[in-house]
Amino acid sequence: MKPTSTITVSSVLPGALEPLRELALNLRWTWRRQCVDLFRSVDPEVFADVGENPIAMLPRISAGRLAEAARDESFLARMRDEVGDLRTYLDSGRWFQRTVPEGMGTGAGTSPSIAYFSMEFGITPTLPIYSGGLGILAGDHLKSASDLGVPMVAIGLLYQDGYFSQSLDRSGWQQESYRHNDPEQLPVQPLRGADGEQLTVAITLPGGREVDIAIWRAQVGRVPLLLLDTNLASNDEGARQITDRLYGGDHEHRILQELVLGIGGVRAVQAHTAVAGVPAPSVFHLNEGHAGFSGLERVGRLMQAGSSFAEAVAEVRAGTVFTTHTPVPAGIDRFEADQLRGYLDADESGLSRLIPALPVEAALALGIEEGGDVFNMAQLGFRIAQRSNGVARLHGAVSRAMFQDLYPGFDVPEVPIGSVTNGVHRRTWTSPAMDDLVTKAMGAVDVSALSDWSALATLTDHELTETRDTLRADLVEMARTQVKESWLRRGADQAELAWTGTILDPHALTIGFARRVSTYKRLTLMLSDPDRLRRILQDEERPVQIVIAGKSHPADRPGKEFLQQLVRFADDHGVRHRIAFLPDYDIRMASVLIAGADVWMNNPIRPEEASGTSGMKAVLNGGLTFSVSDGWWDEMKDDDAGWTIPTAAVDDQGERDRLEADALYEILESRIVPLFYERDARGMQRGWMTKVRSSLVTIAPRITAARMVRDYVSDLYLPAARAAAAFTAEPALAGAFTSWKEDVQAAWPAVSVSSMMLEGTEEGRAATGSEVTVVAEVQLGGLSEEDVLVEAVVGPLADDDEIIEPHLIPLQREQDGRWVARVALPFPGEIGCTVRVTPQHPVLAHRAELGLVAAA
Ligand SMILES: *Cc1c(COP(=O)(O)O)cnc(C)c1O
Repeated sequence: MKPTSTITVSSVLPGALEPLRELALNLRWTWRRQCVDLFRSVDPEVFADVGENPIAMLPRISAGRLAEAARDESFLARMRDEVGDLRTYLDSGRWFQRTVPEGMGTGAGTSPSIAYFSMEFGITPTLPIYSGGLGILAGDHLKSASDLGVPMVAIGLLYQDGYFSQSLDRSGWQQESYRHNDPEQLPVQPLRGADGEQLTVAITLPGGREVDIAIWRAQVGRVPLLLLDTNLASNDEGARQITDRLYGGDHEHRILQELVLGIGGVRAVQAHTAVAGVPAPSVFHLNEGHAGFSGLERVGRLMQAGSSFAEAVAEVRAGTVFTTHTPVPAGIDRFEADQLRGYLDADESGLSRLIPALPVEAALALGIEEGGDVFNMAQLGFRIAQRSNGVARLHGAVSRAMFQDLYPGFDVPEVPIGSVTNGVHRRTWTSPAMDDLVTKAMGAVDVSALSDWSALATLTDHELTETRDTLRADLVEMARTQVKESWLRRGADQAELAWTGTILDPHALTIGFARRVSTYKRLTLMLSDPDRLRRILQDEERPVQIVIAGKSHPADRPGKEFLQQLVRFADDHGVRHRIAFLPDYDIRMASVLIAGADVWMNNPIRPEEASGTSGMKAVLNGGLTFSVSDGWWDEMKDDDAGWTIPTAAVDDQGERDRLEADALYEILESRIVPLFYERDARGMQRGWMTKVRSSLVTIAPRITAARMVRDYVSDLYLPAARAAAAFTAEPALAGAFTSWKEDVQAAWPAVSVSSMMLEGTEEGRAATGSEVTVVAEVQLGGLSEEDVLVEAVVGPLADDDEIIEPHLIPLQREQDGRWVARVALPFPGEIGCTVRVTPQHPVLAHRAELGLVAAA
């Protein structure tokens, strides 16, 4: 019989348990084991049933169980401890308060905060608004900013559907399904105004079409995360779909999402500042180019207040930080300029109806690629942010080359894009078993705050073996369950799946490989020589097993083909007990899979992996790195702590794959496998554990998100805050700078280095340790000395006679008008020297910023 009506019955939380809601609503519980355990102990079955989601769990606990918990003194005491711990965490001064002066040295009374924009945030599986690496990095960034006390507010989108869940069909082809995100079940609350109603902001699309945007708030420790949602009754059907899902639609859809994130985001930050009574952010950090429109919105606002376009851009740039995340041009968001022009919707005087007061063509010019009609979000990022960075040292260098055209006249090393190497949130990614070892060795201190982890060298072979065995066993158990479930979904019968209960060996060398399946990550490199791989897996004495996971973007056909190829290999009866593909890779699976792998394998096409972070998570758990010299491993690789797959210097990709695969097999067979199975007289893996200790001591402290956030604070946030504060403190600065810039641009054609000489050499020869004098005559074309920087560029010569690793030595103007500097020659070799002039002004952060240079 079908019911005529339905009602939802939810349990009412007894007053004594009300603090559970407070704990559930602050996502700090996600990185506090005691708090997760507390929730679990309310009702372990329901907790597991709802995917360990405290918000979804509370209404589903039976009244009897709730009453029992409310009378249970020991439960109540644990709950009170957790509440006390949370409040102390929120209220006590932390690293930022101890090390950064009030006002960040900006002269302002209170510390200005940072607004952090990202298209995705991977904080917990219970808030499914992420797809992979970029989102998890953003989540880890917020967690560490909270731990360190960095004043921050974050902005993202609340998608109606989470990223897709992955399953396989019989043939191993990826299937996608979407789960609906019900705000009631999510750890979010409406951001309420003074009247108690949920706050909304709006943007106006062409034709006067208003899109209302509701603001939700998730709390990540100390950091509020504002999530924007267009699924409102007041919106038309199309507008409601803007925040439907992450990376789901076509270009049109993506532009709309980015307009909501950027423009709606700035408006939401302002609404939040007003109701929360917190200082307005002065630094805007764009995590990837998706939120670039926030810069245009801020330019529009300054223009409404009376600034010219140039003045507004200068001021917005000062306080904006842009992080680029892809070294692959195809990974960058690019739109048809006309499409965007349509949305910006110019009125008769050329001003935007979407962003009031913004001149449409001038704004578009910031992002339109040279000579084309393509609007490039990364280019907008570099133009709207005075400070920018890649996410590992190598990625910084690759980005400088990739975007050199934006800074004409400057060599690649001087392109003003720096780097901050990514990191991972230690507490999130360290398994409980490993965390216990770390605490035992280092004491109950905030380990992330320390850069010296040498105490971990005291961990014994025995302790490490025990922990690694536990973690590997957990992985094997998860893999068995997942493989069985996957086969049931693929249409196999329960009765034919007994074999899944015995796949993998809890004592065998276990290699993990899990990440987004995009072509450059080369999931199938290990299949280059299938027979050789089979032999490695099937070795009776020294077996190797591989556990693999990863999703392919729904529209990425080649990615799905790779995945199918791998799944089919793993389906083979001869190897299925040694190689397993686990569908639906996600944060929760990642924590078990990465922690349980003895070796974390990473073989992208160098240098296409910007950083990669899963290998860092392995390091925290005593896993060893086996990687191409790319991303973060390129700057940290160390033979005492892992193995590096050499990069083949051939152009043909097929040939290169073959060579690198050969190297991969070779290192695996001749170095990794023997070391893993080598035992000393006591049966201990002495050599292996020595390597594990070395990895923990030397690599781990450098790959934490705490290190990363501290780097952002010192290298980018504080300089940006000071630069932005200079504009607020001195309202005339924007105007003065802009007219100075116009003068310099007008005068520049007449600026030149008319002669340059080296004195103190003997026919171009000099002895090591001697000094030479550089003398130059410089024409300033009407500019004054203070307007320019005259420098000698000195450095060793490359084969093509270019100066590499240039040193810059300023020249001083003498009485007679000549410019002079003394240059020491500490090293032997061929040294090149030239003199050049660049503009100089306190507002400029980099010499290349205006793209003006005059050289000898
Ligand atoms: C860490 C992580 C990633 C990112 O891995 P990369 O090594 O950067 O490719 C992706 N997905 C999940 C679920 C993760 O935990």
